[in-house]
Amino acid sequence: MAKIIDGKAISSQIKDEVKEKVAELAAKGISVSLAVIQVGADPASSVYVRNKKKACEYCGIKSLSYELPEETTEEELLDLIRKLNKMDDCNGILVQLPLPKHINEEIILDEISPLKDVDGFHPMNVGALSIGKPGYVSCTPAGVIELIKRSGYTIEGKECVVIGRSNIVGKPMALLLLRENGTVTVTHSRTKNLKEVTKRADILVVAIGKPRMIDASYVKEGAVVIDVGIHRNEDNKLCGDVDYDSVEPIAEAITPVPGGVGPMTIAMLMKNCLTYFDVAK
Ligand code: NDP
Repeated sequence: MAKIIDGKAISSQIKDEVKEKVAELAAKGISVSLAVIQVGADPASSVYVRNKKKACEYCGIKSLSYELPEETTEEELLDLIRKLNKMDDCNGILVQLPLPKHINEEIILDEISPLKDVDGFHPMNVGALSIGKPGYVSCTPAGVIELIKRSGYTIEGKECVVIGRSNIVGKPMALLLLRENGTVTVTHSRTKNLKEVTKRADILVVAIGKPRMIDASYVKEGAVVIDVGIHRNEDNKLCGDVDYDSVEPIAEAITPVPGGVGPMTIAMLMKNCLTYFDVAK
């Protein structure tokens, strides 16, 4: 029986720590605020935005809400970001993705000041991570590191395999595991003999974007398995990229879906709202 890594409990712990730090800053007259921009009314995005605002409220972070109509132009959105970049009482900026098709996401994300880039997507923050300098780190992979460490597992010296190389999950994940002194292999759709590689992993992070694809035949007995995937199955229930029922009996530890990596993403976003006070010094 694997240990079930409880992302709900760990994310609550992190939000409580953030709440405490926000209160300490408030006592010094410093307020923490996050601008959340949504363009259009995509229902899934609206749920994410609502949850982010709820988490801000819990932590004592002021959320500045910008709900813009679908027909907002790229220039109008850029203007808002430029305004927020200069605003002293805004120290984090988040643009909810996806944006409507007529807006170029890359142009928008690059306009966010690297000092307020709470999602950690700006090339300067990605660069800082790759050369080990301080900066914002993308929330989901940062959450994975917290899950592993706070569950009592060390990364140093371990064989770590990441399935997936996206800019949002796979690549920053690999860099973070490397920063923790893991021996890291990144796999992707052109990897030959995927199972041979993944079966070497002491720590296997799965971000392949394919429902329940990774079963026990990909996993070494005693591995720590982190499932980043989120999907709805045939019964409209949430499932991950890992076939949980197949892998759980042979793993040392595993994250469930839901209740594993998912809750960590918002908790790390809250933590990132404090990063400004380190990077903007
Ligand atoms: P992407 O689709 O951007 O990336 C998937 C990666 O998997 C790619 O690098 C791709 O390789 C690789 N891949 C696809 N098929 C195979 C295969 N057969 N063998 C080996 N590698 C393969 O997904 P994301 O990184 O954005 O997300 C991954 C998962 O995590 C998704 O399920 C997503 O929903 C979830 N997610 C969850 C979050 C959370 O908060 N919990 C946040 C973000 C994502 P290649 O590069 O060669 O195409």
